[in-house]
Amino acid sequence: MNASALDLLQSVFGYPSFRGQQQAVVEHLSAGGDALVLMPTGGGKSLCYQIPALLRQGTGIVVSPLIALMQDQVDALREAGVAAAYLNSSLGAEEQREVERQLLAGELNLLYVAPERLLTGRFLSQLERTEVALFAIDEAHCVSQWGHDFRPEYRELAILHQRFPQVPRIALTATADPRTRDEIVERLSLQDARRFVASFDRPNIGYRVGLRHNAKRQLTEFLQGHQGESGIVYCLSRRKVDDTAEWLAELGVEALPYHAGLDAPTRAKNQKRFLREDGVVMVATVAFGMGIDKPDVRFVAHLDLPRSIEGYYQETGRAGRDGLPAEAWMIYGLSDVVTMSQMIAQSESADERKRVERQKLESLLAYAEATDCRRQLLLGAFGENYPGPCGHCDNCIAPPKTWDATVPAQKALSAVYRTGQRFGSGHVIDVLRGEETERVLSLQHHQLSTFGIGAEMDEKQWRSVFRQLLAAGLLEADAEGYGTLRLTAASRAVLSGNKSVKLREDARPERGSRRRRDSKMGASDKSSGGSLGIEAYEQSMWDDLRALRTQLAKQQGVPPYVVFHDATLLAMLRALPANEDELATISGVGEAKLKRYGRDFLAVINAPA
Ligand code: ADP
Ligand code: ZN
Repeated sequence: MNASALDLLQSVFGYPSFRGQQQAVVEHLSAGGDALVLMPTGGGKSLCYQIPALLRQGTGIVVSPLIALMQDQVDALREAGVAAAYLNSSLGAEEQREVERQLLAGELNLLYVAPERLLTGRFLSQLERTEVALFAIDEAHCVSQWGHDFRPEYRELAILHQRFPQVPRIALTATADPRTRDEIVERLSLQDARRFVASFDRPNIGYRVGLRHNAKRQLTEFLQGHQGESGIVYCLSRRKVDDTAEWLAELGVEALPYHAGLDAPTRAKNQKRFLREDGVVMVATVAFGMGIDKPDVRFVAHLDLPRSIEGYYQETGRAGRDGLPAEAWMIYGLSDVVTMSQMIAQSESADERKRVERQKLESLLAYAEATDCRRQLLLGAFGENYPGPCGHCDNCIAPPKTWDATVPAQKALSAVYRTGQRFGSGHVIDVLRGEETERVLSLQHHQLSTFGIGAEMDEKQWRSVFRQLLAAGLLEADAEGYGTLRLTAASRAVLSGNKSVKLREDARPERGSRRRRDSKMGASDKSSGGSLGIEAYEQSMWDDLRALRTQLAKQQGVPPYVVFHDATLLAMLRALPANEDELATISGVGEAKLKRYGRDFLAVINAPA
C-alpha cells in the first residue's frame, strides 16, 4: 500500500516525496479510518484525500463550498490525468446528467459537489447505488457559526455518517482556532476521527507591519519590490477599493477591483483575469479570497486593519501557497481603531458577539504594535508554541527601539480621566498640549490641572502614545463607537506608579524610500526585481517559459498554474533539463504533463541562444 501511494504521488502528481503528515493521513484514510486534518493554507491538504481516492475502490466525493475552487481543482486533476468532475449550479442540465451517468457507471475517481447538492434526496440515493471511496469535507470550518465563512448546509453533513457508516470521512481546514476545531468535531460527528494537526507556520512568508502616514506613497514603494507579480491589496471599504485600483492602474500596475458592490459579471471577469494572467494585482475587500487557490500570489497587502488575527492569518495565508518567497505587509493608523470600533458597535450583532469582536480587535492591535517576533505572536494566537525569533519578520530583522513612556502615559491617562472619559484622542491631546481651542475653552478644560502638562511633546508623538496605550489595553475605545476613550482596569497600576510603560519609537519612513521615489512603475520594466530572485542573465529564459505556459494554458482553457506552478518553472530554469528523462525528475512534472507539454518546454529550454 505504501509503495503504491508513493508511486501515485510520483507518477500522477510528479512530486518526489510526501510532505509533513501527508503520508500518515493517506495511509490512515486508505485503510478506512476517519480523519480531521488541520494544516495551514498551502500545506498540501488536497493530496491527503486525492491519493486515497485513487487507491480505494469507487469514487471519492469531495464537498467543497465554492464553485470557482471546484473548477480549479478539477482542471488540475484532469491535467494530471485523473478522472475528475464536479456537480454544481454552474452546469447545464445536459452536463449534469452526463456527470451523473459517469458516477453511476463508476468512471470517476473524484467528484466535487456543493453541499446543497450533496444533501438532496436524489443525490444521496444515487450515492447509495454507487461505490463511494471516501467523503472529503473541505473547508470544514464552514460549519462554525462563529467563523466568517458560515454555511448552514455544512451542519447537515453529519447525515453522511448515518447513511454511509462504512465510508471513511476526512474533514480538512486551515482554520487553527481551537474553538472552531471542537465545533467541527461536534457538528460532523467526528469524535472518533484521528486528528492530524500540522504546524501553522508559513516559513516562506515574511511579515511586515508599519504605521500609515501616506498610504499611496507607502504602497507604491512596497510594490516596487514586487513588479510584475500577482498580489492582493485588501482595503476596508468598497470606495477605497475603487480609488486604490484606479490609482494603481494609472501608475501602470495591472490592478483590478473586487468587492460585493460590483455586479456579478464584473466580479467574475476580474477574478478570472487574476487567476489566468500573470502579474495581476487584485484590490479587494474581504469579499475576495475564499476559495482562491492561486499558488503564485507573491504578496498580500493590508491598507487597513483586518478584523481579527484569524482573519489576518487567513488573508495573508493566500500568499505563497507554492512555498516560494512571499510577503505579508500591512499599514495602519489610530483612525482604524476608531473605525473598527464603530463598525462593531453599529453592527446588528448581539452584545455577546460584539464583545468577542472587540476582544479580537484588541489582540490584533497588540500584534500590530508588537516589538517582538511577529511569527511567534501569530502562532501563539493559535495555541502554538513557536520558539522564535524567526529572523524573517520586520521585528526580527530590525528590532524596534523602545523608550520609557511611563510619565507621558500617566499624563495621558490622567487627562482622559480629568476630561470625564467622554472625548476622543484629538481633544485630549489639545488639553495635554495646552491648546486653547474653541472646544477647550467652551468646556472650561483650560482650567483643568492636566491642561498643558504635555506641551513638551508634539501632536504626532502624542498620537503614537494614545495608539499604543489602546493597543496595550491601558485605554479602551467606547463600545458605542464614538471614538471616545476610557480607562480600563489595567490603567490604575500605571496611574499609581506601580507599572511602567515601554512604548516603541514609531519608525521613520522606510529606509531607501527617498532614493526610489522618483522611479516610475512602468509596464516596461515589469520583470525586474521581484521575490523569486531571478537573475538578470536568467530573465529572458524565464520570460520565455512563462510565455509558453500562458500560451498552453490558453489553449487548454485553464489558468497558467494548472499547466505548471512557478516552482516547477523555476526548477526547470535552474536545472536546464536536456531531455525528457531529465525533465521527468523535476518536481511537479508527472507522466501526463510530461507527455503533453514536455516537448514544448524542452524546445524553449534548449533553443539556440
Ligand atoms: P492546501 O489545500 O492545504 O492549501 P494544496 O493542497 O493546494 O494546499 O497544496 C499546496 C501546494 O503544494 C499545491 O500547489 C500542491 O501541488 C503542492 N504540494 C502538495 N503536496 C506536495 C508534495 N508532497 N510535494 C510537492 N508539492 C506539493
Ligand atoms: Zn520574527
